[in-house]
Order: sequence, then C-alpha cells, then structure tokens
Amino acid sequence: MLRKLPFRGASIGITTLAAVSFGILIAIMLMFNNLEKREKEVAAGVREDSSWASFSADREAGRFIEALLKAQESHAQEDIDNLLLRYDVFYSRTSELTSDDFSRRIGGNLEVRDAGLKVSDAIVALAPTIDEAASDSDLLISRIPFLLDKAREIRTMTGDLSLLTDRAESDSLVGARALVSRTQRSIAWSVTILTLTLGTMVMLLMSQIRQSFRAQHELRRLNEENERAAITANAANRAKSQFLATMSHEIRTPLNGIIGMTEALALTDLNSEQSREVEIIRQSGDLLLDVINDVLEISRLEAGTVDISRCRFRLSGVLQPIQKLMASTARSKGIDLQFDAQTLSLDSDPARLRQILVNLVGNSLKFTERGSVRLTVRLLTGGRLRFEIRDTGIGIAEDDIPKLFTEFTQVDTSMTRRAGGTGLGLAICKRLVETLGGQIGVQSELGAGSCFWFELWNCDAKLDTPAAPETPKKRTVLRMDADTRILVVEDNRTNREIACALLKQMGVVPDCAIDGKEGVEMAMSQPYDLIFMDMRMPELDGLGATATIREKGNTTTIVGLTANAFDTDRDACLDAGMNDFVSKPVTLAKLQQTLRNWLPEKLAKQSPEAAAQVITLGRS
Ligand code: ADP
Repeated sequence: MLRKLPFRGASIGITTLAAVSFGILIAIMLMFNNLEKREKEVAAGVREDSSWASFSADREAGRFIEALLKAQESHAQEDIDNLLLRYDVFYSRTSELTSDDFSRRIGGNLEVRDAGLKVSDAIVALAPTIDEAASDSDLLISRIPFLLDKAREIRTMTGDLSLLTDRAESDSLVGARALVSRTQRSIAWSVTILTLTLGTMVMLLMSQIRQSFRAQHELRRLNEENERAAITANAANRAKSQFLATMSHEIRTPLNGIIGMTEALALTDLNSEQSREVEIIRQSGDLLLDVINDVLEISRLEAGTVDISRCRFRLSGVLQPIQKLMASTARSKGIDLQFDAQTLSLDSDPARLRQILVNLVGNSLKFTERGSVRLTVRLLTGGRLRFEIRDTGIGIAEDDIPKLFTEFTQVDTSMTRRAGGTGLGLAICKRLVETLGGQIGVQSELGAGSCFWFELWNCDAKLDTPAAPETPKKRTVLRMDADTRILVVEDNRTNREIACALLKQMGVVPDCAIDGKEGVEMAMSQPYDLIFMDMRMPELDGLGATATIREKGNTTTIVGLTANAFDTDRDACLDAGMNDFVSKPVTLAKLQQTLRNWLPEKLAKQSPEAAAQVITLGRS
C-alpha cells in the first residue's frame, strides 16, 4: 500500500507554511509602510516645527516691547509707525498659534494648544486699544504704559509657551523614535520567522520529493504485481470458460435426452393426464436449459466474445413472435398484455433485441399479479429508438434499483423463489444493450409497478408504411421422401433414440452407428444423403471421423451435433470438413430446418393429408 498519510501530512505542512510566510510578508510590508509614514511625519515635524511658531511669537513679543519703549522715549512719528507695524506682525502670529497643525504636530498636546490659544487671545485683546489710538499719536503715547504692562505679560506667556512646546516636541520625537525602533524590532523578528518558515518549507519539499520518488517506485512495483495478477486472472478466466464449456456439455447431454425424448413422447398417442405430465417435464427441461444458457451468456459477455450480427429488419418481425410467446402466460394470469409500437425498420441484431425484450417482458409478467404489461416503442429525436415495458406489478424499492443490473441480484427473494430465475437476466440485458450501442434503466415504485426502458442509438431506425398483416403460418411436421438415406453417428443411446424418433416423424428411418469408427465404416460402405455426426465420442470423435471420411474422398453432407454452445465448436466442425452444425438439445424444429437446408430435393410433395397433419410445437 502506498504510504499516503505522511505524504498528505507534508503537503498540509507546506501549504500551512506557505500561508504563514505569505502572512508574514504582508505584515512586513505593512510595517515598512508604517515606518515610512512615521519617518515622513517626523521629517515634516522638523520642517514645520511647532516650536518655531512659539519661538517667533516670543521673539515678536520682545520686538513689540522694544518698539513700545522706543516710541515712549522718542515720541517720534517714525517710532510710532514702527510700533504699529510690530503689533501687526505680532498679531499675524496668532493664526499659527490657533491653527490645528500647531498642536497636532507635537502629538496633539492639549497643554500646548491651550497655552497657544491663551497667548493668541492676549495679543488679540490689545487690538481695540491700538486700533482706537492708531490715528492719534498722542493718545497712543498716553496708552503705551498700559500696552507695556500687557506686552510684558504676553512675553511671560510666550516664554512659557516656548518651553512647553519644546518639551512636548521632544516628547513626541522620542515617542516616534520609540515606535520606529519597535517597528524595526518587529521587522527583524518577522524576517527571522520568515527565514525559518522558508527553511522548513524547503526541508518539507525535499522530504516530499523523496516520498514522491518512493511512491513512484512503489507504484511501479504495484503495477508489476497487477500485471502478474491480471495474467493469473486471465488464466483463471480461461479456466472458468473451460469449466463452463465442460459443465454445459455435461448438463446439456442429459438435458438433450430429457427434452428430445419428451418431444418425441408428446407426438405419440397419450391420454390427457400423460400429456400434461409430459408437458411439465418439457417445461422443467426448458427452464433448466434457460438457466444454463444464461450462465453461458453472461460468461461470454464478460469475456467479450459475443457475436453481434447486424442487419436491417422490421421491428414487427421481432415483436409479433414475442407477443405470441408471452400471450398465453399473460392470459393464464389474467394480465392485459399490450404491444404498442410504431411501424419501423432498423439496423441492429434482431436475435439480441429479441433476447432483451423476452427478458424484460417476461420479468414484467413474472412480477405482476394483476393489471397490465405494456410495451411501447417510439422513435425519438436524434434517431434514438426507445423501448418501454411498463407493468402494474410489485415494483422495486428505491434502494434496490442501483444494484438491479448487477449479476445474481434478486431483490424480492420470496417472489423470485416462487417465480424462479437466476438474477442474471437484467445483467445480460444491460450488457447486450451497451454492446448494441445504447442505455438501459428503470423507474419503479414499490407496490405500484415498474417501467423498464432502454434506448438504442445509431440504429438508423426509420418509420415504415405499415405492412399488410401476415396470415399466421401453421407449422407442419416436415415429410421427407421415403427413400431418404440418413446416418446418425451418436454414442449416447438416448440421444440416438431421440434423433431416430424425430426423424421417423418426418418419414425417414435412419441408420445408426454407435461410435466414430463404425460411422466411418458405414459412411464408406453405402451412400447416404446426410450424416448427423456427434462431436464427442470415445476413441474416434466426430471431428476425427469426419476428417477420415473426407480423406477417403467422400463428399456426403455431414452435420455436427454437439452439446457445446461456444462459437469455437462451430468453427472446429467446419474446419474438420463438416457442412453444418446443430446444437443440442436436438429438437424437431432444428432437424426440420437442417433437412430443409441441405436436402431440399428430398422434401416430399406435401399431400393434402400431410398438410392437414398439423402439429403445434411447444417451443421452436
Ligand atoms: P431473474 O432471472 O431473477 O428475474 P433478473 O436479472 O431478470 O433476474 O431480475 C433481477 C431481479 O429484479 C428480479 O429477481 C426481481 O427481484 C427484480 N425485477 C426484475 N424485473 C422486475 C419487475 N418488472 N418488477 C419487479 N421486480 C423486478
């Protein structure tokens, strides 16, 4: 197993460290930004020094006092004008002392702000006295003592203000420097942590790369193991197929006996009770054969060895026989069976389509006790052909729906125990629909019924004009000319007797050989129209016997008989020199079809009596 957890742990670690590094980087950038701002503020503080405003107010107070003293001493107009000018300059300083920037620059010191306002108020308070005496020199000179007192008071206040401003400004500078050095310390710490984080990240990355190499190595090892396991599994699968082939042969041989003999027996004179019993044996044999066929089919579908033979055909040709096949079951259960299909033709495999429909309609009839089963077929946009089989049966619980199409699933075991089945039908349908190119699904409600649907895509379905209804053909037992010479080579007594009994129904009394060796001798000693040759026989099997007959230059038609249902058996028959192949169980219908194909010139002219000898067969 790959060691996933440390690998994931390292990934989480790296992601966390990357996030932390990013956070630290942002913090450092913010701190730098803050630092720069502080530095700019300090620089601005130095340029527009608040203490300069206090100092200039103090200096102007001094100059105003000097001008007052000079004017008092000289009474000269020039000194009086100078006095007025000094007051104006002094007055102009008040705007700086009352501005917001004055106290803000030194950290919003309230004491400084109040002192500034006080100085400003005192300067402004002199204005009425000066303005009143500005145009009257004598009046102004008389008020100089008063103005001197006030100016000296203001000078004391501006002196205090200067001291306060200096102190506050130096406090503010100290604070700013402390902040800058704190920020610098924080930046130093952050850079240290960032370096550590990046170092740890590099280490984790290196460890992750090492783990990744180890994981790759382990993956390669697992791949090799998987390849070895796949080879073993393929071998096991081949063994399974071989086992299934053997099993099918072993089961089909006695089944051949049961079904064939039952069919032959059914054609004899039986009373009604015997007929019913024979029919039950026949039905049981059919059921068993269906189970074997299902198991074989799913194994072939799994192995991908199913042959799909596509051709263009009318849908009604597939649907009508199914409707007939199912009608008696529906009737016996009192279920209304309806087929509602558009008249159309399509390109697909009719045999496979029939297999899917028989399964789905059969299931609906099986799981419906009353009501209806309805098959609808509609051509949708985009050439999709949609089949729906809707029933009013027991329905399926929502939880069971997802597992329906997997092998050996039976959701209502009590019902399926009664109704029978292998749980393979839907799995086969799903694989067949997908092989034909389409999709299958179901909507169902427990207790209310189900709607199984499937769509075939790219089947080139086209609507046709409805064909005139076909008159149902009655099946008659084929009659052959009395001089038809047939040899049956079969080691199994029961099978031999079945073949003979069925051929006799067609008016042929065949010769029989009990093994391959005797078969070769008989085939070479007298002329035959056709030889039925079993494949599996002791000593010389059917393939060997056929090869020997052909080597001796005999060209009589030879038809293989085998219980094996694989396509490879058919190929083996043809390769050995046989002309055709009939799979067991051998039925009347199969024998008739073979004789029709290979001995058309030996078919008896059907007399009105022979044509009237109609025998309805249980199953084709
Ligand atoms: P089985 O041969 O057992 O019928 P399927 O694969 O055809 O196997 O069906 C699997 C199971 O799905 C059945 O045993 C039955 O429980 C359920 N099922 C199939 N068709 C229907 C239906 N029309 N209504 C209710 N249940 C159904």
